[in-house]
Amino acid sequence: MELRERKQNDESLKEKIKWQWQNRDFSPKKEQTSQFALYYFLTMFVLSLIESLFVLIPTAYQRHHRWIMTGSFVWVMFITLVNWHRSYFDTANYVKAETKQKYFADCTDTPQDWVHCFKCQVDRPPRAFHCDYCGKCMLKRAHHCFVTSSCIGFYNQKYFIMFSLWSVIASSWLVYLQLLYLNIVLPVSEASFIVYLPPVTLFKLIMGNITFGQAFVVAHLFMNIPMIITGGFFLFWHSLLSVEGATNYEAKQRKFPYKGTVNQNLKSVFGSVFYIPLLVLYPFRLEQDGDGILWKSRAKRVKGN
Ligand SMILES: [Zn+2]
Ligand SMILES: [Zn+2]
Repeated sequence: MELRERKQNDESLKEKIKWQWQNRDFSPKKEQTSQFALYYFLTMFVLSLIESLFVLIPTAYQRHHRWIMTGSFVWVMFITLVNWHRSYFDTANYVKAETKQKYFADCTDTPQDWVHCFKCQVDRPPRAFHCDYCGKCMLKRAHHCFVTSSCIGFYNQKYFIMFSLWSVIASSWLVYLQLLYLNIVLPVSEASFIVYLPPVTLFKLIMGNITFGQAFVVAHLFMNIPMIITGGFFLFWHSLLSVEGATNYEAKQRKFPYKGTVNQNLKSVFGSVFYIPLLVLYPFRLEQDGDGILWKSRAKRVKGN
């Protein structure tokens, strides 16, 4: 009896595997391409931490300086990671069926200025857009961020700005540590600056003149520089959008129907101007002005209020 059952199970498993193989599809999906950058970021994060704590800082600093540097660097990396995590968890940005219920509980049609999304079958409020990578409509959508594998919208824009800021600080500090380390193990004065160029480094590695670890630090140094540029660009761009009270789409169209005063715009993103220094220190969950659903256009506000 047991043997027969096992045989049947084996056959159904065989069928399942056969079906999976016949219906195989290895073409990259949109959600998977978004995940690639996420894993790249996490891998680089762990490598940077190991490299700095066990190689760069112990080589460049001695005795108590070493522990002060280790503690400070771990803190910077921790704040960067917490901000990344806050950006990643953006479920508050999702437009759901309840989103409409909040203000239009009795309305069966799509409310004025709202749009019906045929992909997620919901009515979305003004400034919300559908994201093909997330497969959802997002409140006040700015863009899809591949590094956090999430959409930057109404609720996580403040964390994304802080993430960009701390990424620039962490990457710049890491570049500084890498240069300090390289100048100790491959002094610029003796080996000349050309050793720090990846093709020369690779050649020296093949010839056995430098170690794999030293070559890795040079390669990593050149991977960090684009991180500083990218982080700096997003920090600048999203700070500008916050001050201007705009989304990417509105900035592209050069139309700013929901723009208020600078103070109103900043309150909508950060909750209060005074929250900004607090958020720089730690990504606290602080209340924002508004809910990302109800937006009054500037024209209506001037007329009505
Ligand atoms: Zn949608
Ligand atoms: Zn998205």
